[in-house]
Amino acid sequence: MKYIKYILAAILLVVAVLGASLDFKVQKTEFMMDTVITAVAYGKNANSAINEVFDEIKRLDNLLNCHNANSEISKINYEASDHYVKTTDEVFALLKETVKLSQLTDGAFDITLKPVSELWGIGTDYPRVPDKSEIEAALLKTGYYNLELNEEEKSVHFKVPGMAIDLGAVAKGYAADRAVDILKENDVKNAVLDLGGNVAVIGKKPLKLFEAIKRGSFNKPFVIGIQNPDAPRGELIKTVTANEDIFVITSGSYERFFTENGVRYHHIIDPKTGMPAQSGLKSATVITKNGVLGDALSTAAFVIGEEKIKGISDLCLRVILTDSALNVTDIGKE
Ligand code: AMP
Ligand code: MG
Repeated sequence: MKYIKYILAAILLVVAVLGASLDFKVQKTEFMMDTVITAVAYGKNANSAINEVFDEIKRLDNLLNCHNANSEISKINYEASDHYVKTTDEVFALLKETVKLSQLTDGAFDITLKPVSELWGIGTDYPRVPDKSEIEAALLKTGYYNLELNEEEKSVHFKVPGMAIDLGAVAKGYAADRAVDILKENDVKNAVLDLGGNVAVIGKKPLKLFEAIKRGSFNKPFVIGIQNPDAPRGELIKTVTANEDIFVITSGSYERFFTENGVRYHHIIDPKTGMPAQSGLKSATVITKNGVLGDALSTAAFVIGEEKIKGISDLCLRVILTDSALNVTDIGKE
C-alpha cells in the first residue's frame, strides 16, 4: 500500500509524457512577401491557426507592398504629392510608428528612400549604378520629416512632390507581429515563424516521447540559426537560444544585390549618401520583443555599423553583428 503513491506518480508521469508527444506539429511553407515563409506550430489548433496566419500575411502583402499597383501604399505614392490621402487606421498607425523609428535611429531607417532605391533597381531585372547627379536629385525627394501625417483625418501628404514610401524594411516584422497575435488568439502555445530571416518564437519546442524521457523534460527552447553571409543558404554563423518569446530579425547585404566591375551593390541604402550602406557589416541581427521594432532596427543597425551601434543596441535585448571578415560581435547577451 505504501508504494501506491509512487505507482500513481509513475502513471501520471507516463500519461504526461505521452500527452507531450501528442502535442502534434504542423508545418507549412509558402512563398509570399517576396520571400520563403515557414510556420511551425504545435497543438490541436495549430493547423487552423497557421492557415489564418498565411491568410493574414497575404492580406498584408496586398495592403503594404509598394510594388503591387493596387496596394494602399501604392495609392498613397500615386496621390500624396498632390493632396492629403486618407488611409486606413492600420496603415496610419504603421506610418506613425515608422516615423518614430526614424527619429529613434537618427534617420538610418527611413521609409521614404523609394526614389533612391528605384534608381538602383536592386531586386529587379535591370539593376544599375546610377550617376551621382541622379542620386543627389533623388535624395531631395526623401526624408521621413517630409511626411505630413494628419492625426485627426488619418491622412498623409508628401511635403516634397515626387516622394514615395516603401515599407519593405518593416513589412515582414509587422507581419510577424500579426502572426504572433493570431497564434496566441488561437491558443497556440508553441510556434516558430520564419519570414525570410525575420523569425518569431512563441514558447518552447515540445519533445517527442523518447527525447522527453531521455531529457526528463517535455520541451526545450527553440534554437534560431543566423545565416553565414558568405555561405550557401542554411549554413549558420551562430545560433540563438530562445528562452522567452522573442523576434530574431536579420538584415544582410547577401539578401539582394548585384555585382558590377567586381563591386557588390546591395539593397540596404544609407539615407545620408543614397548609396548601399558601407558600414563594414555583412549582416545585423537584433533580438526584440516586437517585430516592427526589430525589423526597423536590424535595417538601421546595418546602416549605422558597429561603431555607433549603442543607440540601437540599447533598444534591443541583444544585437549580433557580422563584419566583412566574418567576425561576430554579440552585444547585450544575458
Ligand atoms: P531589410 O531587409 O528589412 O533590411 O529591408 C530592406 C528593404 O527596405 C530594401 O529592400 C528597401 O526596400 C528598403 N530599404 C533600404 N534601405 C532602407 C533604409 N535605410 N531604411 C528603410 N528602408 C530601407
Ligand atoms: Mg528590416
